[in-house]
Amino acid sequence: MSEIEPVGDFRMRARRWLKENLPPAPESFTLDGDEAMWERARVLQRRLYDGGFAGICFPAEYGGQGLTRLHQRAFTEESLPYEMPLMLNMPTFGICAPTILDMGSEEQKRTHLPAVLRGEEILVQFLSEPRGGSDLAGLTTRAERDGDTWILNGSKIWSSGAYAADYALCLARTDWDVPKHQGLTMFLMPVHGPGVTIKRIRQTNGSDEFCQEFFDDVVLPAECVLGEVNGGWAVASRQLYHERTAMGGGSPYFSGARPRIAGEVADLVDLAQRTGQLGDPRVREDIGEARSMRLVEQQLVDRVGQAIGSGAMEPSASSIIRLFRAESVWLQTDLALRIAAAAGVTGDRDGSQGLGRVGADYIYRQANGIAGGSAEMARNVISERVLGMPREYAADRDVPFRDVKQGR
Ligand SMILES: Cc1cc2nc3c(=O)[nH]c(=O)nc-3n(C[C@H](O)[C@H](O)[C@H](O)COP(=O)(O)OP(=O)(O)OC[C@H]3O[C@@H](n4cnc5c(N)ncnc54)[C@H](O)[C@@H]3O)c2cc1C
Repeated sequence: MSEIEPVGDFRMRARRWLKENLPPAPESFTLDGDEAMWERARVLQRRLYDGGFAGICFPAEYGGQGLTRLHQRAFTEESLPYEMPLMLNMPTFGICAPTILDMGSEEQKRTHLPAVLRGEEILVQFLSEPRGGSDLAGLTTRAERDGDTWILNGSKIWSSGAYAADYALCLARTDWDVPKHQGLTMFLMPVHGPGVTIKRIRQTNGSDEFCQEFFDDVVLPAECVLGEVNGGWAVASRQLYHERTAMGGGSPYFSGARPRIAGEVADLVDLAQRTGQLGDPRVREDIGEARSMRLVEQQLVDRVGQAIGSGAMEPSASSIIRLFRAESVWLQTDLALRIAAAAGVTGDRDGSQGLGRVGADYIYRQANGIAGGSAEMARNVISERVLGMPREYAADRDVPFRDVKQGR
């Protein structure tokens, strides 16, 4: 087995390569549903792949570099001044690709993972449904067996970036005669196949990257099943683990980061300076609080990540970092608006320096406690599965799903 490259050497090699191969980072980063941005991300990802810097923590046999999270962290730090395909991090690299890696067949891994790392396949999640996303196991999109194929009918919603994606991890009900968790199957399906209609949804912040999909007799070959038939909950649980880890800021599969996230501590200092409040003791105290929260968050990500990695904690403990991240972002967003005050609402939104951007980010504030499972559901998981407190009452426990009362 060849020796693993020391992180310091890797960092220097990455620094040289980045300087020669990637353009400087743009002023601001938005995920506003622009198709040209996705195409640009694919091109940049291909460049990383050709340069030997794609999928740093993915195994070499599936097109990755087979290195450690410390190598990935070094690369991300070095990449901050450069333009990176950041929109591929979530959910393609952080959630869907590791789920395929953990739960897919050898053929699925060999077909999809190298294509993902070359920027040729973008992946999305078809989990949430119009009837509700928190009770994921209660979903009603159905797949019925028809000879060697499955016929999919139903609807999914809030799928980030589905319009620009190639494949989706879609959880569907395949057995109605067993309790809800036992009758689900995960499908790795083409997003733009016959019978799939995609509608885009405009959000209050102007972005229309959310989608709703309608499935009308979509034919899926048997090879689309990821994991076992009726074993979809095990796949979804692994997917949710990767999602919570990613939402908590602890995914080893993310590559690159926004140089400055609006509301981050550096931004708060900058905001206070530009609005002439850096000397105000109350503002200084607020910034100190946000800074402490960020420091605790970073320590928590490392500590929980290591504990899950060593088996000292269950994967469900990823809900701790997911919840803490939501609290931390909420605090930073609230403080940013408090500092920007009226200019956050009335100011110019363009560019990362526009004060109006603070108000636009505030509108998006709540998404941080909803995406990837809500903060309330994270608290439920922590209380029941991490702390071992009594489980919430559920009227549908052990009841065949066919007999469970459904709302309209
Ligand atoms: C930015 C963003 C990106 C997203 N991307 C995707 C995606 O790519 N793919 C996808 O499938 N979904 C995606 N979602 C959807 C997300 O997973 C759901 O919004 C989330 O799981 C909550 O589901 P819901 O919106 O249907 O709310 P509901 O499940 O209807 O819940 C409504 C409220 O009730 C609370 N609640 C529900 N049940 C309980 C309970 N048992 N105990 C306590 N409180 C409870 C919830 O916390 C919430 O506040 C995304 C959402 C956002 C905001």
